Amino acid sequence: MDKKTFHFGLTGYPLAHSLSPALHDAALAATGLEGSYDLFPISPLPDGFDDLAALVNRVHTGQLDGLNVTIPHKQSVLQFVEECSPAVKRVGAANVIYRLNGHLVAENTDIPAFKEDLNTWLSDFTSEFLPPRRALVLGAGGAARSVVDALLSDTWKVVIAARNLQQAVDLCASLSPYYPTGGLDTTTLTAPALKKLEPPFLIVNTTPAGMWPDTDLSPWPDGLALPETSFVYDLVYNPAETALVKAARAVPIPALSGGGMLIGQAALAFTLWTGRPAPKQVMRRVFDQKAGLAEKPSSKRGSLL
Ligand code: NAP
Repeated sequence: MDKKTFHFGLTGYPLAHSLSPALHDAALAATGLEGSYDLFPISPLPDGFDDLAALVNRVHTGQLDGLNVTIPHKQSVLQFVEECSPAVKRVGAANVIYRLNGHLVAENTDIPAFKEDLNTWLSDFTSEFLPPRRALVLGAGGAARSVVDALLSDTWKVVIAARNLQQAVDLCASLSPYYPTGGLDTTTLTAPALKKLEPPFLIVNTTPAGMWPDTDLSPWPDGLALPETSFVYDLVYNPAETALVKAARAVPIPALSGGGMLIGQAALAFTLWTGRPAPKQVMRRVFDQKAGLAEKPSSKRGSLL
């Protein structure tokens, strides 16, 4: 019998500089599987409607074994699938499409990937460093939905700070019914508003501020010191050390950027598509090389500052 060849891909717009092909190619090679991972840039809807429908249909017909989805299609892709996982129903966004028992299914692997990376990182610290689980989430877009859901499901109290308060209020309104015990609040992303909060233990950046090429940008308001007892997790992974992570390490407080989450979501997708455990260490090595971390061990994940 011929050996199966897997076909995966990523859609979004724009897709320049995506690390996903390198991560999945390395995972396929290390697992001894044949296959390829292609980029399918598709314009935002309504212009890209027909192209997105046709691409998702390729998963339905088996021409594609799996599809990753990123900005701006994480929400709009849901109209083309037959089933949404419980996580996708909660947050209203998917990053993985695959076929399960003949059905086209949408899944969100960002949520478990963030949760696992955060918890692995925090487990490096002894409990004296782990005060009440109070988190401040910067931004209220698609990634914030996954992060807030992950934190609430792990019993964190969460304040969402957004420059557009209405966006944070809407996020709060759509997730609150799933977490009836509460623990979710909103505020504006300004120095005076953040000063009024009890110092959070964890600050999570879910905005793209600081992402290449705008590497000098930070989502943290000018003129406000980072709390000296906080930890910072920045979802941005390109560059590996963002302006916010640099500022945190200068305080010094522990800080981590989003490479581990990126690898985690890719690894979970790989397993959904192939039924095989993903070679995460191989994927981490590829990420470190691509992100220019290979020669800078002090800034690898797991380092405290
Ligand atoms: P998105 O849906 O466009 O949401 C971005 C959010 O950030 C919006 O609330 C936006 O507010 C806000 N924002 C943008 N620029 C800002 C600034 N300079 N200051 C303050 N707020 C700002 O994007 P997304 O899908 O959530 O992605 C956000 C970032 O997370 C991206 O850099 C993405 O690469 C990263 N991400 C990483 C991973 C990972 O695996 N590590 C996974 C998912 C996402 P406005 O509406 O006011 O612009």
